[in-house]
Amino acid sequence: MSDKQNIVVIGASVAGHEIINTLVPLLPSGYRLLLVDQFGFAFWPLGSLRAAVVPGWEQRVTAPLNTETVFPAGSPHTVIAPNKVVQLKPGSIVLEHPFEGKKEVPFFYKYFGGLRGFGDFVGFRDSWDHRVSDDYVQVVPDLQLRYQGAAAYGSMHARCILATGSSQPAPMRPSEGATEASYRDELVQLQRDIAKAKKVLVVGAGAVGLEMAGEIREAHPDKPITIIHSLSHVLNPTSPPQPEDQTGYTAPTSLPKLSLALEKQLAQLNIDLVLDDRVVIPPPGTVSPSSIEWDGTPGRTSDGGIKKVRTTSGKTIEADFVFVSIGNKPNSGLVKDVDTGAVKGGMIWVDEYLRVRSDKLSKYYAIGDCSTSPGWKTSQGAVYDAAGAAANIIAEVKGKGAKKYKRPTMHGLAVTLGQEIGSIQLTMPLFGTMLEKLLVEDRFATRFKGSEAVALPPVAAA
Ligand SMILES: Cc1cc2nc3c(=O)[nH]c(=O)nc-3n(C[C@H](O)[C@H](O)[C@H](O)COP(=O)(O)OP(=O)(O)OC[C@H]3O[C@@H](n4cnc5c(N)ncnc54)[C@H](O)[C@@H]3O)c2cc1C
Repeated sequence: MSDKQNIVVIGASVAGHEIINTLVPLLPSGYRLLLVDQFGFAFWPLGSLRAAVVPGWEQRVTAPLNTETVFPAGSPHTVIAPNKVVQLKPGSIVLEHPFEGKKEVPFFYKYFGGLRGFGDFVGFRDSWDHRVSDDYVQVVPDLQLRYQGAAAYGSMHARCILATGSSQPAPMRPSEGATEASYRDELVQLQRDIAKAKKVLVVGAGAVGLEMAGEIREAHPDKPITIIHSLSHVLNPTSPPQPEDQTGYTAPTSLPKLSLALEKQLAQLNIDLVLDDRVVIPPPGTVSPSSIEWDGTPGRTSDGGIKKVRTTSGKTIEADFVFVSIGNKPNSGLVKDVDTGAVKGGMIWVDEYLRVRSDKLSKYYAIGDCSTSPGWKTSQGAVYDAAGAAANIIAEVKGKGAKKYKRPTMHGLAVTLGQEIGSIQLTMPLFGTMLEKLLVEDRFATRFKGSEAVALPPVAAA
């Protein structure tokens, strides 16, 4: 049992790991960071598609996630993984498995203010490690008195950060309950299935669908590949980017010229594009796996045979591997369970300080893909959010007021089509090395600042 005050971060991916790295050198002693993740390993979504296609890359998109790889030697901070947060309480989180003997882990909050009226004194708080509750006020550092009926005033300083991101089917993110080994196995199986496939269909020309098609083309120059997209151009170029738009969790709007540039590159790569059309996905169990019709299952067809995939316009596309790149879902369920009003457009609704907009969860921040923080849901955006929330936490720890968060406007939307080709929505050149590395060395490996080094093996040239 630690005598330090816990600051809990839920989610050890881009947003969660970034805020930890920012807080570690700045936090005064007396605080302990607890980084929780449901997986016992870290993963890098940006490299997941190449890892599903190119042998060797499955070793480069995961890394060990533990106290030694994340935190400097001798620090009080701790990684709790694999362990899932299953419930949020006003001043504590509840884990699936015990940590230090308990499933409920309190996080500290400080109330700067006082009591109006004295209320009825109803006793001392039972134990120091249960120091947080809605009806308790810490009046002196080592003593808690319990009052009922006293009106509290002042400001509450939050100490738990939700960085729970979003869920997508593998390969984009590991499946529920995955281990590092099982996720890598899944990637290797996909590499084999794609290698065997005679005709590939990619459903959805968002960034993920386009990048998958590009990776497959580079590894398999002669394989027929078709992409089908519901809009009249790839991506979502209906209007110029509106980073402040928070109405829902949709693909970011992109500049029309980015779509046109990518469509030109797809043609050069001999990738067929079907626009303004949708695939008909049969409900599970309605088509026999032995039928010539596609049964709606993503990946390689169950008997390995070529199937007919129908579209809403009446077209038929043949494929024996179907990659479905739709279905990115923000992980906001923990908040929804407590307060449905604190979820907006599927994401956790935050205020201008990145705090959750809920009386019941007022001590929580939410950042990254799970949050309505303004702007695109990208790793770059998650990093910006982490910096904003970290600054406010440090200010609060020092007894200063939090600052309104404003995301920096510099933001790029890069779509890679393999290791050499791609387009970016920014007035800057796209370097071959940048495409080749998928930021694995610069952004994934370097985020581990623990006493134990993390090394990602190079991939042997084909
Ligand atoms: C194929 C692909 C390509 C991409 N390319 C780019 C790109 O080029 N540039 C870019 O900027 N962005 C890109 N992105 C987007 C980027 O990966 C995400 O925006 C980023 O990962 C968001 O980070 P996050 O930390 O908010 O969430 P996530 O990465 O989703 O991580 C959330 C973490 O929370 C954990 N978690 C969730 N619920 C719980 C719970 N109850 N208990 C414990 N742990 C929990 C999860 O296990 C996970 O580790 C890409 C994404 C994909 C899939």
